[in-house]
Amino acid sequence: MEHYLDNSATTMTCPEAAEAALRAMTDLYGNPSSTYKKGREAKKLLDECRADVACALGAAAEEVVFTSCGTESDNWAIIRGAQSRRHSGRHIISSLVEHDAVRESLDYLEHEGFEVTRLRPDAAGVISADSVIGALRPDTVLVTLMMVNNETGAVTDIAEIAGQLKKAGYTGLFHTDAVQAFKKIPFKADKLGADLISISGHKIHAVKGVGALYIRSGVKLPPYILGGHQESGRRAGTEAMPAIAAFAAACRQDPQIDRIASLKAYLSERLSAAVPEIRMLDTAAPHILSISMPGWRSEVLMNFLEERGVYVSKSSACRQGRRSHVLEAIGMAPAAIDGALRIGLSRFNTREDIDALAEGLSGARMLAHSR
Ligand code: PLP
Repeated sequence: MEHYLDNSATTMTCPEAAEAALRAMTDLYGNPSSTYKKGREAKKLLDECRADVACALGAAAEEVVFTSCGTESDNWAIIRGAQSRRHSGRHIISSLVEHDAVRESLDYLEHEGFEVTRLRPDAAGVISADSVIGALRPDTVLVTLMMVNNETGAVTDIAEIAGQLKKAGYTGLFHTDAVQAFKKIPFKADKLGADLISISGHKIHAVKGVGALYIRSGVKLPPYILGGHQESGRRAGTEAMPAIAAFAAACRQDPQIDRIASLKAYLSERLSAAVPEIRMLDTAAPHILSISMPGWRSEVLMNFLEERGVYVSKSSACRQGRRSHVLEAIGMAPAAIDGALRIGLSRFNTREDIDALAEGLSGARMLAHSR
């Protein structure tokens, strides 16, 4: 029996998304740019999908542009966002706990002459509005901060920061990477105050290879992918219709946040009973729990659990082989980082999955004590 508890790395495609993708491949397979009937049918489907994703985001349909993934959305927002405002300044504010899609975009901009202030979060991994305002300069042209951290589940109050930035007279761009937040914590793009929001399909039970960038109405952002005039000239390339159809179908599903949050509470209880010395980060996201078993190596625990059909990850799936920059930034001791695991819950998880994890970790501990 499999117990998949790595839903922050990716999720299982839900049946509704798989069905929608199949329909877009086998029936509505026209190119939405073609003007004949088959193309018009595909265009209609594309428009409907955009409306569904926009509805889930709390945005207008015209504010949603489909991309290939969260990484592309981040790259586009940050690189083109900063470059297009370079006449006003070259300073950017971000944090030390961003995903690599953001970090590498910022490194790229530094090579182009931008200066980046990377804010340190508090011990819980949260970036405060005060620290953002404290870092603000007259030449700041971009602020980019993630809403939910993919390793710890820490939630940064993006609406509060947007409000404070406005109050401080900031006129640059505000981008948030909401890849781990979308459909997991409630927010509405039209109330959030961010100009640009990145989201991704495969974190919400759609398929891999689709994402979207919310571009607030009136915000000018030059294209990143050049070529045809798809997506109203904002993102070239024939739209990935099966993936987009899956994305929209996934957006229509009830995310069951309360159920996931109660599973997280059960998880904390079960783990502290099974492994009394376990450390857990107390964060607000309902679906991510970062734990650590000091004295252990994450890889050893992962292998031990895998043999019992339990899948969890070391930290972010994209950072294999390196010590987590996120856990370092929140001041976790190296020994604790080396024994850290991330558990990512989804609405398809059950208490049995959590029991299997708790029994696996308790088994590892007993084995070690018996040696
Ligand atoms: N941002 C965050 C916070 C993520 O967790 C991820 C993926 O793990 C990404 C961006 C990249 O998204 P994608 O895998 O769709 O490129």
